[in-house]
Amino acid sequence: MSGKEDLLNLIEKDAQKHIELLQSLIRTASPNPPGDTREAIKVVCRYLDSHGISSKLIAPKAESPNLVSVLHGGGQSRTGCSARSLVLNGHIDQFPVGDAEQWQRDPYSGDVENGHVHGRSGVDMKAGTAASIIAFAYMHQLRSQIAGRCTLEVVSDEETGGRWGTRYLLEDDGSEEWRGDCVLIGEPSSLNSIRFGEKGTLRMDFNVTAPAAHGAYTHRSEGAIRIASRLIERLVALEKVDFGMDEEIKRHMQQADVRKITDEIMWEGAADAMLFPSVNIGTIQGGEKINMIPSQCTFAADIRVPIGVESKAVLESIDNILADFSGASYSIREDHSHSAEHSDPKHEVVALLQNNARALRGQTPLAICSLGATDCKHFRAHGVPAFAYGPHPRGMAERDEKVSVEDFLDTVRVHSLTAWDYLSGSMSE
Ligand SMILES: [Zn+2]
Repeated sequence: MSGKEDLLNLIEKDAQKHIELLQSLIRTASPNPPGDTREAIKVVCRYLDSHGISSKLIAPKAESPNLVSVLHGGGQSRTGCSARSLVLNGHIDQFPVGDAEQWQRDPYSGDVENGHVHGRSGVDMKAGTAASIIAFAYMHQLRSQIAGRCTLEVVSDEETGGRWGTRYLLEDDGSEEWRGDCVLIGEPSSLNSIRFGEKGTLRMDFNVTAPAAHGAYTHRSEGAIRIASRLIERLVALEKVDFGMDEEIKRHMQQADVRKITDEIMWEGAADAMLFPSVNIGTIQGGEKINMIPSQCTFAADIRVPIGVESKAVLESIDNILADFSGASYSIREDHSHSAEHSDPKHEVVALLQNNARALRGQTPLAICSLGATDCKHFRAHGVPAFAYGPHPRGMAERDEKVSVEDFLDTVRVHSLTAWDYLSGSMSE
């Protein structure tokens, strides 16, 4: 029996335990904000302990620890090439549930019903993180048969940009072990796509001021909220401005089959949205009383920038708009902003993921880019190829989030087999 068949048989035999790990993670709340992930990290620690795997915590913020563990294979690379190092990275923090009363069941129930595990972050991304943990435990169990090094990183703070999570590991802690020469992340992608690039993020806070006055005296002052609404309209119009895009990525993303799967997975219009900036006004505050003209309005904008476009090009346009608004200013959330990054869609790991997925599911996942951001961006910014492959993104950040058990177990299978292949130095068996 080949190593890969052994691995698939082990996954089959342990399937119930894998589902139980996912349930435990979903039942342990870790919303960010506020970002306290200590209890969820304890669940991971206990799981690794029970498999005889040591791990350590790196916690620049005590309430948001990152867990890391490293294993070294004892075998020979089958192709004789030099030993590889693979990072399996997943975040443990999650979107808040919002108003729990609006959910049809407890947002942290972890119930298994109708082929789904129910609860916040089943999709984004406790199923993917569980898959990384499980794949790592298998690599540990089979370490005498693999070569190279495998690192597990269960990080906090991804939902607010990764400053104290992955970015901290790469830039502040700085150990080469956290970097590897390739990274696999189980963020939701749909099992029919592999994500090799993502749009950049530009997060900004705007402040608009105007003279205050009595509410009946609009001839004296337009008021900060009305000015802000005009400014927002101008900012949203940036969604129609063609800032250009990396030509090679554009050609790839505009192929008919890639456009089709992009629209299928990320809703109709996603393939076009890849070409332009998007402008979301996420929060707004202003005014004191209905019959007073407000002197201040603040709002926050989350702008996504196409691959190949520098944020400063978009910022120049914003500066031009602001020249028409004397009472308006902005600041950039530097820790939450990042340039657009991508890896080579022809990287060996993409081919391995495709081969393994095709063998299991009969369909080859296509390499596409993402509209949203993941911790892949931090690795890519440091020149490390990073790829996301995980369950269907449907329902992420929404009420009544649930993840398909089959998607979850297939994520476990494809991640484990791909880690095995990559670390063994074999294209496929
Ligand atoms: Zn995520």
